[in-house]
Amino acid sequence: MTYSVKEMYYTLQGEGAHSGRPAVFLRFAGCNLWSGREEHRAEAVCRFCDTQFVGVDGPGGGKFETPQELAAAVAGFWPGATAGAYVVCTGGEPLLQLDDALICALHAVEFEIGVESNGTIPAPAGIDWLCISPKGNAPLQQMTGDELKLVYPQQEAAAQPEKFAQLKFQHYYLQPMDSDETEANTQLAVDYCLRNPRWKLSMQSHKYLGID
Ligand code: SF4
Repeated sequence: MTYSVKEMYYTLQGEGAHSGRPAVFLRFAGCNLWSGREEHRAEAVCRFCDTQFVGVDGPGGGKFETPQELAAAVAGFWPGATAGAYVVCTGGEPLLQLDDALICALHAVEFEIGVESNGTIPAPAGIDWLCISPKGNAPLQQMTGDELKLVYPQQEAAAQPEKFAQLKFQHYYLQPMDSDETEANTQLAVDYCLRNPRWKLSMQSHKYLGID
């Protein structure tokens, strides 16, 4: 399989349970909930996306013909020995492309594999940290994982926090929706967490730090 990668870079994970952890971000091109083109946003299943995931033209991006070639490129971003190294597979929707062969190849170069998925595609085995972030009315297929991270608030009935409380995740996070109402959204998320202490607040710390 040829893997299409929008961009790749070394940074700190900004969100959720691994916030602050150094990681290689591997952003796959393409998503199944939006084309990524502004003229399609209004009709998309997911309409609040803040990510560029179209094409393979970003820094470190490109087409990779084999899983080994892509894993070697990921490893090239890690400073020093890769024991304990961490890669965050994101997108777009990474599970459109992340397959068993790539999971093996990333493990072979000693990377721990994190995935940030919208939950509409069942995850393959072997992922070390699975974060599911449900979007709008998109039907959830992946009901288990390490971290459920819900962008909040969302209007759709299917995307209310109560809908996910019975699923089997280790951590539950609300992440204020980034928009021209971020401050109000943050307060709503804080209030919800205080009323429902199973939920924790996830801030997009990379945006406050001004890093990618
Ligand atoms: S599911 Fe994620 S990558 Fe896809 S459009 Fe929504 S926010 Fe963007």
